[in-house]
Amino acid sequence: MNQSALVVFSGGQDSTTCLFWAMKNFARVEAITFNYNQRHKAEIDCAIKIAQEFDVPHSVIDMSLLNQLAPNALTRHDLEIKASGSGELPTTFVDGRNLLFLSFAAVVAKQKGIHHIVTGVCETDFSGYPDCRDIFIKSLNVTLDLAMDYTFILDTPLMWIDKAETWELAEQLGRLEYVQHNTLTCYNGIIGVGCGNCPACKLRSAGLKKYLEKKEAVQ
Ligand code: ZN
Repeated sequence: MNQSALVVFSGGQDSTTCLFWAMKNFARVEAITFNYNQRHKAEIDCAIKIAQEFDVPHSVIDMSLLNQLAPNALTRHDLEIKASGSGELPTTFVDGRNLLFLSFAAVVAKQKGIHHIVTGVCETDFSGYPDCRDIFIKSLNVTLDLAMDYTFILDTPLMWIDKAETWELAEQLGRLEYVQHNTLTCYNGIIGVGCGNCPACKLRSAGLKKYLEKKEAVQ
């Protein structure tokens, strides 16, 4: 286990679980966070704090240009956050976000001699984001290899698991309580349990409830 990995890290439940997954599977782990003027600076602070707590080298990259390209409900206070209706993308969708983030992460990884890039994208709780799909990740992996004449491995430990199983993974990694209390998923910027009302909080707490019920049933 002498390989290194770069984790695309937002300080949320999914990417924090990915960070712990990487820490278990790689000898050296670094993290990269993209600042695109998220509604809450708390997200960036949360990512910085977690990386510091676990001594993970961490860089925060300015991606504010993303908001100039594509204003969205995560960065604009005047746009309402709505879950996706039938056949339409939620207002939190940002065209090309994962394409850009993973491409920038790849440039940084190559400079550091890192081949593995870990991302928390997931097709299971698929809210319609096209660049969270496995087929996109596989396609981008080939493109990045060709673009930089370098071998990248895009690792997606959450691709085929749902929110309940993501909690289960955190527990297997011995970090369930840490993830529960120290990560920020809530669109209203409340760390840990969150506001309880936004789509992200509802998904997160429904997943935790499902996992805890399953765990209790087994015991
Ligand atoms: Zn919330």
